[in-house]
Amino acid sequence: MNVVFIGPPGAGKGTHATILSEKYSLVPLAAGDILRQHIRNKTELGRKAKDVIEKGELVSDDLVNSIIFHEIEAAFLQKKGVLLDGFPRTIGQAEALDKFLTGHRSALDAVLNFDTSEDMIIARLSGRRVCANCGANYHLRNPLLRPKKEGLCDKCGQPLTQRKDDQPETIRHRLETYQKETAPLIGYYRRKNILYDLHGDYDVNEFQDEIQTLFEKLKLTV
Ligand code: ADP
Ligand code: ZN
Repeated sequence: MNVVFIGPPGAGKGTHATILSEKYSLVPLAAGDILRQHIRNKTELGRKAKDVIEKGELVSDDLVNSIIFHEIEAAFLQKKGVLLDGFPRTIGQAEALDKFLTGHRSALDAVLNFDTSEDMIIARLSGRRVCANCGANYHLRNPLLRPKKEGLCDKCGQPLTQRKDDQPETIRHRLETYQKETAPLIGYYRRKNILYDLHGDYDVNEFQDEIQTLFEKLKLTV
């Protein structure tokens, strides 16, 4: 099966993607994480994307499409489905994804819409930390996601930093970009009858229960 998570920055998509992908043996593909990995590795693509990302704007469709399709192909080769988090983010990306999946005799099974209030988003983003070395994500106010040693990465022991695009001014800009570019996808997928709304202000456990009930109802299996 293939699943997409849609929702504003800070809706908690990444957290749920990580937990679910383990339970359902899906390959989690987080567009933002993949892009930041390119920046850390100083690839050609990372160089092109860095300024755009730090300003809270979207990287071009062509660039994102090509890196994500490459990753989806790798997952399909392992006979696994994907859980896409942060992709597609524009109608152009969604149309390209449909074409790509059809070409691989595949399709999307469900699109989960994380409906989250603005207050919750700002609280979530301001507490978010990321390892500058390996890219692991943490959250200061979430007991499940807090680092074991304050300020240090559990996985590699390196210092945690705040993303440049998690500063208040940039957060506002990202929310505007979301409304303008990404929110139209909700109607796009609703018309295809594969959109499911989730209320994003729940705590992590309540939310997992809600998603799993939905997966069972849809009889989504790998
Ligand atoms: P969040 O979901 O918190 O906004 P992400 O880690 O998903 O954060 O994305 C961070 C940034 O990476 C975005 O603000 C954007 O600049 C870039 N990005 C991520 N996914 C896409 C995409 N599908 N298309 C264009 N740009 C993207
Ligand atoms: Zn690390």
